[in-house]
Amino acid sequence: MASRFDGQLRWLHRVRLYPTCAQERSLHTMLRVTRELYNALLQQRRDAWTTRRVSLPSREQYAQLTELRRVEPRFADVYRECEDAVLNRLDLAFAAFFRRMKRGEKPGYPRFKPAARWSQLEFPHGGRALKLDTLQGRVRVPGVGAIRLRKGRTVPEFGRAFLVTKNGRWYATFEAHRMASPLPAAGHSVGIDRGIRVLAALSDGTMIENLRSGSRRRATVERHQRALDAVTVKDAIGRSLNVKDAARIAAVRRLARAKEREANARRDWLHKVSGYIVRRFDRIALESLRLRSMTRSAKGTCELPGVRVRAKAGLNRALLDAGFGMLASLIREKAAYAARTVIEVDARYSSQTCAACGCVCKESREGRRFACVRCGHAADADVNAAQVILLRAESPPKRAPGTARGRQHDAA
Ligand SMILES: [Zn+2]
Repeated sequence: MASRFDGQLRWLHRVRLYPTCAQERSLHTMLRVTRELYNALLQQRRDAWTTRRVSLPSREQYAQLTELRRVEPRFADVYRECEDAVLNRLDLAFAAFFRRMKRGEKPGYPRFKPAARWSQLEFPHGGRALKLDTLQGRVRVPGVGAIRLRKGRTVPEFGRAFLVTKNGRWYATFEAHRMASPLPAAGHSVGIDRGIRVLAALSDGTMIENLRSGSRRRATVERHQRALDAVTVKDAIGRSLNVKDAARIAAVRRLARAKEREANARRDWLHKVSGYIVRRFDRIALESLRLRSMTRSAKGTCELPGVRVRAKAGLNRALLDAGFGMLASLIREKAAYAARTVIEVDARYSSQTCAACGCVCKESREGRRFACVRCGHAADADVNAAQVILLRAESPPKRAPGTARGRQHDAA
């Protein structure tokens, strides 16, 4: 029998919440209690292991949780399924730990959670616990009350749900599923290369810029950083002390918000770009990031003894890569929803390969320009590389260099 969500795609729907002061206090109490529970359950497992060499099964802890709720009112006050979710989260942490052990890695033992790393409440059967009113103006949270929601966005039928706090604000994330809705055929294919001075270059010659309007936001971030430095107490050798006075806490929060707004603007831009690409093209060829990370780590070892300048270039490159990586994952996500095809290819040597005759020669590349030493084909270097990526997706070559054993994802 097919599952209820067969053929559907997971979709996270985030809405801002506006709790009252009293509601916010209740939410923070729930955070405190669930965190305390997580750390206690973890302590129990550690003790069981160090003293008796047994790993505590979660069903035993589940039964003890029932008992705990009978005797400790503060645990009984929190919605039961939130506490079950805590136990589940611990199980997942241990499962990941044992999986990495088995693979011969050296994983860290699951750690206790400080308050700064505990910011979400999970409702595993959200629809059962959280009730929206008919106009979706408020969401009723067990033990907290009806919290006001941001207006104007319709919350779909949801399964799991989370209440999350970030930089002093609260959000609800509803996990929903929706059917793919295929877009009409566009009749075009495209290859995409990460640019050097641009975010991405397309094989049809389109250059997609990085977000440029970010300079004002950047200035705001820097201003808040300076304000924070001004209220930070330093010791004799200039290390900042972790003083928690009100002025510093406020400055930390203002800086975090400025950074959040900057990140929002960047993400918004990537959403627009990926939407544009998925609407315009049926088949989208991208560099395989899995292959890239493999080749890069191999190269990293001999580049390791770099000077300061190299390190800075590396960081800049890493930031650009992060932007392109996020663009690629948004393209994949939207393509799956629109039933478009994404083809991942091995992009090695694509910047030295001629899109016209296939000649691989590093002399063909001169900075931003590409001029083939064999056939004379000339183009922008990034656009040429994007065309090579498209060609590899359409007709994978038989042998190295650049053996494109492309993985193909057909959105069903
Ligand atoms: Zn050529």
